[in-house]
Amino acid sequence: MTQDQISDARRLLAQKQEIVIFSHRNPDGDAVGSSLGLMHYLRDEGHNCTVVLPSDYPFFLRFLPAVESMVIFDNDPPAAQEVIDRATLFFILDFNSFDRIDKMAEGMKDDDRPRIMIDHHLFPEPIADPIFSRPEASSTCELVYEFIRYLGHADRITKKTSDCLYTGILTDTGGFKYSTSPTLFRTTAELLLAGTDAYKIADHVWNSQTEKQLRLLGHCLANRMELLPEHRTGLIYLTKQDYEAFDIQRGDTEGIVNYVMRMPEYMIAAFIHEQPKIVKISLRSKGNMDVQQIAKAHFRGGGHRNAAGGASFAPLGSTINRFKKQLPKYAAEIEAAYLEFNNQ
Ligand code: 5GP
Ligand code: MN
Repeated sequence: MTQDQISDARRLLAQKQEIVIFSHRNPDGDAVGSSLGLMHYLRDEGHNCTVVLPSDYPFFLRFLPAVESMVIFDNDPPAAQEVIDRATLFFILDFNSFDRIDKMAEGMKDDDRPRIMIDHHLFPEPIADPIFSRPEASSTCELVYEFIRYLGHADRITKKTSDCLYTGILTDTGGFKYSTSPTLFRTTAELLLAGTDAYKIADHVWNSQTEKQLRLLGHCLANRMELLPEHRTGLIYLTKQDYEAFDIQRGDTEGIVNYVMRMPEYMIAAFIHEQPKIVKISLRSKGNMDVQQIAKAHFRGGGHRNAAGGASFAPLGSTINRFKKQLPKYAAEIEAAYLEFNNQ
């Protein structure tokens, strides 16, 4: 964050604003945690502030303070439109291109009300000013903490804010497994000093699975996992019929893709699932293997080096085949990443 950017943000926040915080469709712990964390801080500073999301949040985040205050566009478009119309300032959190909020972006492109972006995805599009982007950061929550610190207000962070930010850091790092850094642990220490109980948050986040979710995980691993050892890649797929048979709701499949990574020989995991109109693909990788480029080149997507996603309009079977057909192109990169990863 440059001095000019900080001054711009300070100037925008110097007077009382009607603030709308946007985050992305299918919001995860980082999207919801960063949005609510920033909301609590901005409310404490005297602003009116509402979080508006395109689609509903997963069940395991129901414990976050003021989670019920979020306005979900899919559930109530007029209510969302009303708060958007009233806004004098927008924050864009945990996404960096308008296609991540689909219908809600309509009208935004030509809207001249100020927008501030805080995000850690690669290649931010110029849809806000200032843009606080640091792709090496673990999470948008880590960056929201930095944003507040740059404003000189780190000591004003309350437990409500720290609980939200800690949650997003915990989930986006997979429990402090990925994208950690000395800076992140320092930030985390500050959040604990603000009153967050790490054990309680961990219990909410990791121990809130339903019986259905555990049985679905069993089904995925027993019946829907296909391994391609020659490409160090494993994929798990779910059909529309699976969605019906298991009554799968949003969030029920969260984290399933990561199980492939438990096998040390595997460098890439894909989760390919049929949704009503599209086939969604989630990709994960280890070490230097970059799955963001695969998502971007073949599935109109993006994300991070080790966690990316995209979509396909082709049927499930052909999407799976398309994915498999790309792998030989990346053979050398996969092998190099594997060797590097195991030599650390
Ligand atoms: P997930 O697999 O958990 O849905 O997403 C993993 C990462 O990939 C997220 O950080 C997200 O930003 C990115 N991602 C997932 N789906 C898409 C997509 O359709 N387009 C883009 N640009 N990024 C995506
Ligand atoms: Mn994130």
